[in-house]
Amino acid sequence: MKAKEIICDVVVVGAGVSGLAAAVSASERGAKTVLLEQNNFLGGAVIAGMHRYLCGLYGKTVSRTINAGLARNLSSCLRKSSIRNRPQRLGKVYVLAFRNKDMKACLHTLVKNRKNLKVFLNSRACSVRQKRGSIQGVRAKAKGRIFTILPKVVIDASGEGAVIKLSKARYRMASYSKRQLSGFSFRLKGLKNANELLSIKVPYYIKFAVYTPLDSHGECLIRLNIPAGRDVVNIRKKAQKVCGCLRKVLPEFKDAYIVEFSPYIIKREGIRLCGEYTLTASDVLQGRRFKDGVVKNCWPIEIWDQKKGPYYKYINSGGYYEIPLRCLKSKNVKNLLVCGRCISVTHEALGSTRAAGTCIALGEQAGIAAVKLNEEYR
Ligand SMILES: Cc1cc2nc3c(=O)[nH]c(=O)nc-3n(C[C@H](O)[C@H](O)[C@H](O)COP(=O)(O)OP(=O)(O)OC[C@H]3O[C@@H](n4cnc5c(N)ncnc54)[C@H](O)[C@@H]3O)c2cc1C
Repeated sequence: MKAKEIICDVVVVGAGVSGLAAAVSASERGAKTVLLEQNNFLGGAVIAGMHRYLCGLYGKTVSRTINAGLARNLSSCLRKSSIRNRPQRLGKVYVLAFRNKDMKACLHTLVKNRKNLKVFLNSRACSVRQKRGSIQGVRAKAKGRIFTILPKVVIDASGEGAVIKLSKARYRMASYSKRQLSGFSFRLKGLKNANELLSIKVPYYIKFAVYTPLDSHGECLIRLNIPAGRDVVNIRKKAQKVCGCLRKVLPEFKDAYIVEFSPYIIKREGIRLCGEYTLTASDVLQGRRFKDGVVKNCWPIEIWDQKKGPYYKYINSGGYYEIPLRCLKSKNVKNLLVCGRCISVTHEALGSTRAAGTCIALGEQAGIAAVKLNEEYR
């Protein structure tokens, strides 16, 4: 039997925040768009990692987001959902605190009933067909079935660089020993008399762990920050051990128990495209502007080093820098664009560009660029 074929203008691989933004942006500009996601949920790392803060949205003030468009729409959807979703100062910058359930709802609203958009969950892009330096087809596996998408333009929003790898687009990746720590979160209930001091006490006992109190009484999140390459079964066991240790050493945790784990380990760093331009740490710190600058970013360089743990380098004079469109364009695969975590940046610059708020703006711009590229093919 012939595998099902779907003809479209743009296929987006990955429905994390950057892929969702790319798909919405392309479809609302009239491009027939297909969004493929291997998981059974939308939102990627933001949902899997149980994030509480959307970073990269604000500059010096919180009256408006630094990027307009979908980043601003999503933040206003979150703020309308609950008064608990509000900007907060974190170090020298502001973030938008949000509840996970509101984020899920806002992301669904973003893609719901879009005329030109088809979303396929549980569908993993597994191979590509190429001709004369362009991707002609993307094959996807969905619960044992295989189907082929025949797009004019492909956007890799997989965070992992899935299409970059499959299409042999040029890329770079730091060695295991240099790669930034990955994260694994779990949610606990049963805390008693918890106060802010726990955010100091928990990392004191558990190296590089982050404690975040949750709105519901007696609940918190703990994120373990671990070297890349660990498997999820072992890390769940480690989380149980960590919980046991906290029960013994901190009275607030005496009756605490785990109610939820991240579905997978989320990575800070993986494959990065070798694009038409590679953004560097000095571009970020000097607040550099570009003729083709499409996204503004204020988020500092945030490195989660395997030995030193987290450290931050802030943009000079607290300003912003721009990310040029060339960072989203492959050098050697003509119809491939990339957004989100795997754009063309150095290891250090990635510490700034991967903030989820920034990834939304990058996704939107990838969608706009895809529509332009698609028009050129007509
Ligand atoms: C530990 C940790 C903590 C963080 N904390 C914060 C925070 O508090 N605030 C913040 O703003 N940012 C935070 N970040 C950064 C931020 O979460 C990510 O960089 C951002 O969400 C990346 O978005 P993305 O869309 O590029 O990728 P992802 O969210 O990773 O989405 C990629 C999607 O592609 C899918 N996919 C992959 N391969 C395929 C394939 N072959 N076929 C189909 N689908 C595929 C994946 O399943 C996934 O859903 C954190 C990152 C980490 C690792």
